[in-house]
Amino acid sequence: MVKRVVILGSTGSIGVNALGVTEQLGKECRVVGLSAHSNTERLLEQIKKYQPEAVSVWEESAAKDIRAKGIRVRGKALVVLSGIDGLIELAEWPSADIILSAVVGGIGLKPLLRAIRAKKTIALANKEALIMAGELVMSEAKRCKATILPVDSEHSAVFQCLNNAPTKEVKRLVLTASGGPFYRHPGSLSDVTVAQALAHPTWKMGKKITIDSATLMNKGIETIEAAILFGLPISQVDILIHPQSIVHSLVDFVDGATIAQLSWPDMCLPIQYALTYPRRLPGRLPTLDLAKAKTLDFYEPDFSRFPCLSISREAARQGGFYPTVLNAANETAVFAFLESKIRFTDIAKIVETTLGRHKDAGRMTLDSILDKDQWARRIAKEQIK
Ligand code: NDP
Ligand code: MG
Repeated sequence: MVKRVVILGSTGSIGVNALGVTEQLGKECRVVGLSAHSNTERLLEQIKKYQPEAVSVWEESAAKDIRAKGIRVRGKALVVLSGIDGLIELAEWPSADIILSAVVGGIGLKPLLRAIRAKKTIALANKEALIMAGELVMSEAKRCKATILPVDSEHSAVFQCLNNAPTKEVKRLVLTASGGPFYRHPGSLSDVTVAQALAHPTWKMGKKITIDSATLMNKGIETIEAAILFGLPISQVDILIHPQSIVHSLVDFVDGATIAQLSWPDMCLPIQYALTYPRRLPGRLPTLDLAKAKTLDFYEPDFSRFPCLSISREAARQGGFYPTVLNAANETAVFAFLESKIRFTDIAKIVETTLGRHKDAGRMTLDSILDKDQWARRIAKEQIK
C-alpha cells in the first residue's frame, strides 16, 4: 500500500534527507504535503519535483506570492497555507497516512498534538516538542491510538533493538554520543566560536541541533526523549561516548544480553525505517563493513566539562514542567549564541539559572505548558540582555 507522507520542515536537514528517502522508496511512498519556514526558493523546487497537494510557509505574504503563481498539481490547484494554522492543517491533512515532524523547536508541539488527535502515524524528529510536553503527548497518543515512531537515530536504534520487548525485560538503554566537536578540545570552552561549534565531526545537521551536540545538551535532551518514548525512568537511560557514530545505541536486557544497532552514520536509515515500519525495504545506505570501520571506541561521558548533561538529567528527575523549562531556556540560549550575543559556556548557565527560578505547580495541559514555555523564554532572554 502506498504511504502518503506530509513533511513538516521539508526544507531542513531532515526534511531534505526524507525527500531523498521517498525517492528511493519509489511507489511505496507519495509526498502529499510540504512545509518551510522562509526558504520559499527551496520549497518551490520541492513542489515542482514532488508534486504535493498542499504546502505551508510561515509568513502569509510568502504564501500569497506562491498562490499568485497559480501552481496546479495533478490537475488541481496547489493548496498554500501559512503560519501555525498552516502547519496544523498539514498535520491533519486528510489524505496523509504519516506525518514526519521535522521542524525545529517548540513550534512543533501544536501540530504534533493535532496529528495525534487525527490518528495519524507520526515519524518524530522534532524532539523539542516531546521534551516540552512528554506526558501530554504520550497520553494523547495512547488515548487516540496514534503511533509515534522515532526518527532520532539513537531512538530508532533503541526501537529496533527493543523490537516491542516489554519494559520489565529491559535493564538499561545506552544512548551513544559522538561527543561533538569539543570532546577533545584542549583548554576552556568559553571562547570557542560559532563556526567551531557548528563543525560537527560525524553528522551534518541543522544549526540548532549542531550546537546542542557541541554542548551535549542534545544528548541530555535525548535521554529525556528516550525515557518518555520507551516509558522508563531516567535512571535506566545512560550515555556512552562513541566518536565513530556507528553503534547508534544499545539495550541491556535483564538476562545479561545487550543488543545494539549498527550502521554508517546517515539519517536516511532511521528516516526510512520510520516510513516503512514494520517492514524493511532496500535503502541507499551501503551495508556496514566493520573491517573498514576498524575501531569502535567507547568512553564514559565527562559530566564536569559538559554541564548540560547533569542539568538535563536533573530536570528529567524532577519531571513536571522542568523539561519544558529546560527546552525553552536552551532554545533561547542556543539562538542567542548563534547570533554571537552570548558565549558558548553561557548556554548551560542560562538554562541552569532559568531552571533554578522555576517552581513546579499545577496540571500539565497544553495551555499551562505553553505558558511555562513563554515564561522560561522570557527569563532566559533577561539573562541574555
Ligand atoms: P533544520 O534547521 O535544518 O530544519 C528545520 C526545518 O523546519 C526547516 O524546514 C525550516 O524551514 C523549518 N522551520 C524552522 N523554524 C520553523 C518555524 N518556526 N515554523 C515552521 N517551520 C520552521 O533542522 P534539522 O532538520 O536539523 O532538525 C529538525 C528537527 O529534527 C529538530 O528538532 C532536530 O532536533 C531533529 N533532529 C535532527 C537530526 C539531523 O540529523 N538533522 C537528527 C535527529 C533529530 P526553513 O528552511 O524555511 O528555515
Ligand atoms: Mg540523535
